[in-house]
Amino acid sequence: PSAHANMKDKADRATTEQVLDPRTRVILLKMVGRGVIDEINGCVSTGKEANVYHALAPDKAHLALKIYKTSILIFKDRDKYVSGEHRFRRGYSRHNPRKMVRVWAEKEMRNLKRLRAAGIRAPEPLEVRENVLVMSFLGDEHGWASPRLKDAVLPDAAAAPLYIELLLALRTLFHRCRLVHADLSEYNILYHAQHLYIIDVSQSVEHDHPSAFDFLRNDLKNAEEFFARRGVRCLGLRRAFEFVTRDNLPEVPLEELAELPESHVLERETLEPAPDNVEGEQPTKTNAPQMWDTRPAEAVLRRWLAEPVPPEDEAHDGQEDAVFLRSHIPRSLNEVFDPERDAAALARGEDRGLVYADALGLVPREAGEPGELGKVDEEGVASDSEEEEGSGE
Ligand code: ADP
Ligand code: MG
Repeated sequence: PSAHANMKDKADRATTEQVLDPRTRVILLKMVGRGVIDEINGCVSTGKEANVYHALAPDKAHLALKIYKTSILIFKDRDKYVSGEHRFRRGYSRHNPRKMVRVWAEKEMRNLKRLRAAGIRAPEPLEVRENVLVMSFLGDEHGWASPRLKDAVLPDAAAAPLYIELLLALRTLFHRCRLVHADLSEYNILYHAQHLYIIDVSQSVEHDHPSAFDFLRNDLKNAEEFFARRGVRCLGLRRAFEFVTRDNLPEVPLEELAELPESHVLERETLEPAPDNVEGEQPTKTNAPQMWDTRPAEAVLRRWLAEPVPPEDEAHDGQEDAVFLRSHIPRSLNEVFDPERDAAALARGEDRGLVYADALGLVPREAGEPGELGKVDEEGVASDSEEEEGSGE
């Protein structure tokens, strides 16, 4: 599954792949002309929507080229990611494959930047031209690509810390990048330099996309199942969902933070402003690298993982997860069956089993603090009018 810098036979095969249509070749030639790439080598991966190639920069740095296929049929089933996304209401033509693919490639570039800016491990995107995305190569110095998490040989002791790393990344993704990956699994995570790198983010959605919670639930289900199979004590889907989405996690004493390794304190990069022609894009500009400390969240996560699993929960865990998976989690108050009733119940401190309450800002804060119930009206008014009316429970 890896590429080697000198695999000439693979290079020959690469050029005969249908993905390299004449126009794509011109784009690649221009990249060579501008000194972005110097040579293209083996094919790292052939996928349904894109192929990934190993390339070398003029300074011999390893690069990955993700070349999206431009056949019209391939991107049709991606509509579910697009509907409800304000960024794409204009300029997304379902009838022009090149234009469509270009939108996906540009989106992947921007999303990768957002991940990197938040300190999430991901390839560094270098440039995008139509259907070609150039990014840093995750692999060794000989040009062998790092394995997908699915294929990685993990030392026994590594799995549990990697589970923690992944949940922290997903929480950061949700709260800092305001994104949900939407295709997360052990296939779209690379195990590189003893860490998890998140890739394949072209279909990632804004965290307020109408289906964001459904995508997130599925992402977390894949993560939980993967690590549970490797014997890691996991949170369980419901708690993992709470960990990723909850606005305010319980506070932990500073001493507890000091005991944590610093590996998750990551440096934020400066972000480029978005191109002017991208509608709805919100450029985030930071003047200087900032530190984003994930340790408070990590401390909470470690606490939750250390809590003993109550016996009856253990027995019902799978079943509960199944119920949770099926249950509809309203993404906005439009979809809540009776928001006023639910909000009033929460204000009285009743737990109506509202799994969505915290993510909507409805959960009363710690005793004594005022709740955030004021947000109810605000969000109810502000939420997207194009969403479907309540199919809620
Ligand atoms: P697809 O849409 O085909 O799933 P991905 O972005 O998941 O595209 O990439 C496909 C495969 O290519 C990945 O599973 C990984 O093995 C490899 N790959 C992608 N990006 C990189 C990279 N930056 N460095 C090394 N390998 C990569
Ligand atoms: Mg993939």
